[in-house]
Amino acid sequence: MTPSAPLRLRGPEEAWRHRAHDVGHVLQRWRAVARVAGLEWRVIYETGGYPVYFLRSGRAGERPLYFSAGVHGDEAGAVLGLLEWAERSGAYLRRADLILIPLFNPVGLAMNTRGDAEGADLNRLFDCARHPHIAAWRQALAGCAPRAAVCLHEDYDAQGLYGYELNRDRNLHLAEQCLAQAEGIVPRDPRRRIEGRAAQRGVIRRRRLPMAEHLPEAVALYEAGTDCALTFETPSEGCLQARSRAQSCLLDAVCAWDQAGGSRIVKISQDDLVSRGDSRKD
Ligand SMILES: [Zn+2]
Repeated sequence: MTPSAPLRLRGPEEAWRHRAHDVGHVLQRWRAVARVAGLEWRVIYETGGYPVYFLRSGRAGERPLYFSAGVHGDEAGAVLGLLEWAERSGAYLRRADLILIPLFNPVGLAMNTRGDAEGADLNRLFDCARHPHIAAWRQALAGCAPRAAVCLHEDYDAQGLYGYELNRDRNLHLAEQCLAQAEGIVPRDPRRRIEGRAAQRGVIRRRRLPMAEHLPEAVALYEAGTDCALTFETPSEGCLQARSRAQSCLLDAVCAWDQAGGSRIVKISQDDLVSRGDSRKD
């Protein structure tokens, strides 16, 4: 039996190799976005030689929208999704009331690891005011309670797109609206239970805070007064381009909802999908 010829990827390197873990490249693209869209940007923390950027639109007030990505470094589709969304949303960004944290854990992205330089899972530390990285984040957000927050993540064993929703308005089903926008790119996770929690068509909805300590970003924001905190997850074993496009579409849906006045667009009859547990990967 003749062994098959070795695979040769032809053409220029940029034609087949992505740079999603190239932190310098990602941040360079973000600086370009900030310049074009007139965003104020500053470094709120430095870790492993990398800056953590905090961007605000010119109109950002005390109750902005809040989008973040890259708390976990091995979730490049989320980082890329937020970046690609921003790159094609210049007109919106110029008039938006918005805060962006484009890459919370740059060391993790560079190393393709979930944790930071010390191996810490930052998304279990958002209630830890003594942690310097979290303290810097809290200080940057002082005096501000986002009206809605979106935390972008990925999950290595997800079977599709899914999201967590914490919402003070029991009649508003924003995650459902967002998944409907993106499911043409990445289908919804069909499981009835995801990460130990009841899910309905990819939405895990909770009214009560799911934990008292080791808080993830979305729960800490909700505790701090955010009305609606969403966490979205794309399957990190899927095609990177599809993952980033789906993430980007999710943000489009949030912006469309917000621009429509934050109205109650979607209503679902079955509700109260509240469960507890601490096995989530977001
Ligand atoms: Zn994550």
